[in-house]
Order: sequence, then C-alpha cells, then structure tokens
Amino acid sequence: MSYTTQMDAARKGIITEELKSVAIYENMEVQELLNLVGEGKVVIPANKNHTSLKPYGIGKKLKTKINVNLGTSKDCLDTNIEMEKVMNAVNLGAEAIMDLSSFGDTQTFRRKLIYECPAMIGTVPIYDAVVYYDKPLKKITAKEWLDIVRMHAEDGVDFLTLHCGVNKHTAERFKKSNRLTNIVSRGGSIIFAWMELTGNENPFYEYYDEILDICAKHDVTISLGDACRPGSIADAGDVSQIEELVTLGELTTQAWERNVQVMIEGPGHMPLNQIKANMEIEETVCKGAPFYVLGPLVTDVAPGYDHITAAIGGAIAATYGASFLCYVTPAEHLRLPTVEDVKEGIIASKIAAHAADIAKGVKGATDWDNEISKARRDLDWEKMFDLAIDSEKARRYRTESKPENEDTCTMCGKMCAVRNINKILKGEDVDIMD
Ligand code: SF4
Repeated sequence: MSYTTQMDAARKGIITEELKSVAIYENMEVQELLNLVGEGKVVIPANKNHTSLKPYGIGKKLKTKINVNLGTSKDCLDTNIEMEKVMNAVNLGAEAIMDLSSFGDTQTFRRKLIYECPAMIGTVPIYDAVVYYDKPLKKITAKEWLDIVRMHAEDGVDFLTLHCGVNKHTAERFKKSNRLTNIVSRGGSIIFAWMELTGNENPFYEYYDEILDICAKHDVTISLGDACRPGSIADAGDVSQIEELVTLGELTTQAWERNVQVMIEGPGHMPLNQIKANMEIEETVCKGAPFYVLGPLVTDVAPGYDHITAAIGGAIAATYGASFLCYVTPAEHLRLPTVEDVKEGIIASKIAAHAADIAKGVKGATDWDNEISKARRDLDWEKMFDLAIDSEKARRYRTESKPENEDTCTMCGKMCAVRNINKILKGEDVDIMD
C-alpha cells in the first residue's frame, strides 16, 4: 500500500520505518503512536528527500524536543562557523535545526545541511525568497513566493514555517490594536509589508491549497507561523495573537483533510501567569496539533540573559502542553549568536524540556535524574560528569577548584554533608576539624 505523508500512512494503518524508529526512541507502543500521528497530535517531520535524517516525533505523550536556529546574515556570512554550530547542536542533543539564513548562497548551505545533518531541518521560505529574488519586496509575485516553498520542499526540508495566518482580516485587526511592539516576527513583518505594499491577500493564505499539494508530495510538515506573536509581555494574549490563532486552527483542519502534518507556532513574550491558559486555548482551537513555542520569554528586561527568561517560560509551556521548544540564546535581541551563545541556548532549552518532561510524567524522564543523584550521593565525580547535561562545564568547574580532600568539593570541604552522612551511616568517625 502506498502513502504520501506519515499522517496518511498512519491513517491507512501503515507502520513506516520512521514511525517504528520513533516508537523505539520514545519507548511507546507502535499502535499508540500510529493513532496519535493519524489524529495529528504527533508529527514526524521527515521529508522523503532528507535521506540522512534520524526521525523524531513531536507531540503528545512524547519527550519535549528542542530546535536550534542558525544561518548566515549579511553581517555574519561564514558558513563554516554555521556548520560548526550545527554539529555542536546535534552533539548537545538538539533534535531540530532551523536554517534561517538571510544572505549569500542560501541554497548551497541548505543542501549541505540536509545532506550532512541527521537532525530535522526547518526553514522559513519567506526570508529566502527575499534573498533569492534580490529585487524590491513589492515586485515579488505570489507565484514566486510559492516557488520558494516548492524549492525548499524539493531540497528536503522537513518542516517549513509558513506565515499563513496573517490574512487581510488579521492585518486590519492588528492595525487597529495599538500594540506596544507591533509585529516582531521576521517572516510575519515581511509578508505584512508585502500585503500593505501590493494591496494583495497573503499568498500563503490565498494559495494554501497549492501549498498543501507541495507538502503532501514531499511530506513536509507545516509549522504554521505566528506573525502576531507578542513581542513584549504587554502584547501577550491580545486580540491580534488570538485572531491569528483562530485562523491557524482553521488551516490545521484543512491540512489534516489532505493528510498534511501540522505544528502551530506560539509565543513569544508572555507573563508566567498567562502561559498555562495560552497552551490550553491553543490545544482547543487547534484541536491538539503540536505546539511549537518560541520562548516564551517571561520578562522583557533581560537582554544578554534571554536564554534564562525563555527557559523559564519554555518549562512552564511544555508542562502545560507545548511539545517543541525553540531555543533562545543570550544573544537574543542583540546579535547573531556565537558558537558559545548557541551552546548556552541549547543547554538552557534542554533543561527546560527535561524539567517539563519530569513534570508531565513522560515515561522514563526521571531515570536520568535518579542516576545522577545516585552518583552525587556516592560522590562519584566521573559518573556525575558523564551524566551531566553539560559534561564539559561540570568537569571544568571541579578541575579549576581543587579541594583538600578528594571526597569533598571546595564548597564545604570536610563539612561535606554527603561525605559525612555516608561515613556515619557506615559506622565511621567524622573528621571535620581534624
Ligand atoms: S562539599 Fe558541599 S557542595 Fe560539595 S559535594 Fe559535599 S555537600 Fe555538596
């Protein structure tokens, strides 16, 4: 029996190699996963042309996944550095890479990435169209926007962020809304500007059926972009955001009618107390399609530390329903991230994802914690380093600060509670001041 997409296969009861591999990784029954993929509650982004892919599932009951944004810009055009970030990201456990290149020979870099990288690859064709056509924005035609979508699908991209939800109606609402930070989505701002300049409807909305044809053919998962995601906590949960979300819910149903897999992008900046409700609204409006959050950043005041503001929000969001976290680096709002910025962003995001997996009871999530806690109890430093989310940093910190006694650290020395309790429980003397 043949199939187009993973969703189509699941609905026909076909167990694909990708589905089998995801079920093993998640320690889940194949039939349970098959049902979730068929219902759209789990996606397996796996373009048929991405032959080096290690497939992952994103969605309900699965481990929370993280995405790492990379790519060249006009000011930072070194593709070797970007490839170094890619391989570091994969080694640190990122399941997805989004290539957001906005300058240079983007197709060569994208193809190299797809050829070499086992992570899921995502792109935003809107940025690339502007680079590719290299002409005034208003001169790009609707057909040309769609041709870029087709090109990325043919190149092997596993998921595409498409800002289909900001149609004329949403745009009018936005213009009347008096938002503090307007539109902060790069793709959203470009397509909104194009709509204003040409007077035309958003081509990703108007020609959504053609986009579905392309995505069905290559099994590209659509990541429905949130052009109106709040860019400040003042704008969180406002009419523009919710209006667009309702449209995304409608587009989700249309995609599912064609067996196209869908994720929904989410905020953005959002106060802690709004995150749970926002996840629940998304779940209802978009019928359980996996939610992919860009943060959320829980305060606006921490440039230089936004990997932390995003990890706090990401942990809460994933606890209450988000399945996929887009990492944020300390460079957010400031510059293109360096290799070190990327590492810090990934670690923060992995912590958020794992913390949420513990909270929502993902199968086996606490095993890792229990293992490292045993090593900590036994003062088994090597094992702790091996199990640490950032082994290199944990090892370096201990090496840089040598204790007098090997079975303590320089924090408490011989007052080490762990060491002394171990000794007492073994019936040994405790030599604090000796
Ligand atoms: S010395 Fe203090 S901080 Fe260090 S391992 Fe022992 S109890 Fe923990």
